[in-house]
Amino acid sequence: MTISLKAHGATPGDASADQMRLMADLAETCSHGELRISHEQNVTLPHVHRSHLPEIHARLKTAGLATANIDLISDIIACPGMDYCGLATARSIPVAQEIAARFDKLKLEHEIGPLKIRISGCVNACGHHHVGHVGILGLDRSGAESYQITLGGDGSADMVIAELAGPDFAADRIVPAIDRLIATYLDLRETPGETFIDCYRRLGLAPFKAALYGQGKARAA
Ligand code: SF4
Repeated sequence: MTISLKAHGATPGDASADQMRLMADLAETCSHGELRISHEQNVTLPHVHRSHLPEIHARLKTAGLATANIDLISDIIACPGMDYCGLATARSIPVAQEIAARFDKLKLEHEIGPLKIRISGCVNACGHHHVGHVGILGLDRSGAESYQITLGGDGSADMVIAELAGPDFAADRIVPAIDRLIATYLDLRETPGETFIDCYRRLGLAPFKAALYGQGKARAA
């Protein structure tokens, strides 16, 4: 089973000392002493017997570790970015926090379904933005943080490198841009079961690009 370290509005992948002790205890009692940190910045307890799930969930809940958002829009991989990394050209963490808080407030993330947003704070791509369904790359434009959006990437067995949507967005424009992108997906999907990436593969870049840049809705940086 997977434990989400993506509480809405919190730093993706962070856990407190108390939370780590609890997960270590659960690993001892329920997963043969094994615990794995995933590249998705979550924690996996392997070998868990189904009968242990209610107890595990109850204990995780008391520690703020029961966020039910694995593979959803708020389960974002974000690199440390400018908050912690000397190589960064922009911040990653606040963008992830704002997107997660925004869609939690809208109560839309289960309606949106599986969606992998990946954020890197520079071209070194530690946040794997280039294989995100939606990738966000932080750049420095004459001293100002600026964000490029890439679309259609896939880090699964069907590996696809995402394509650049267009000009980058100023820091205060990146979350509204993601908002328009998701609204367009919800509008254009054929059925509620058609995921963002399937919808993108069916329609291509054009309608999403129009949503990001069309009719004066977006101001490129
Ligand atoms: S992608 Fe850049 S900013 Fe992010 S952790 Fe890697 S080197 Fe640092």
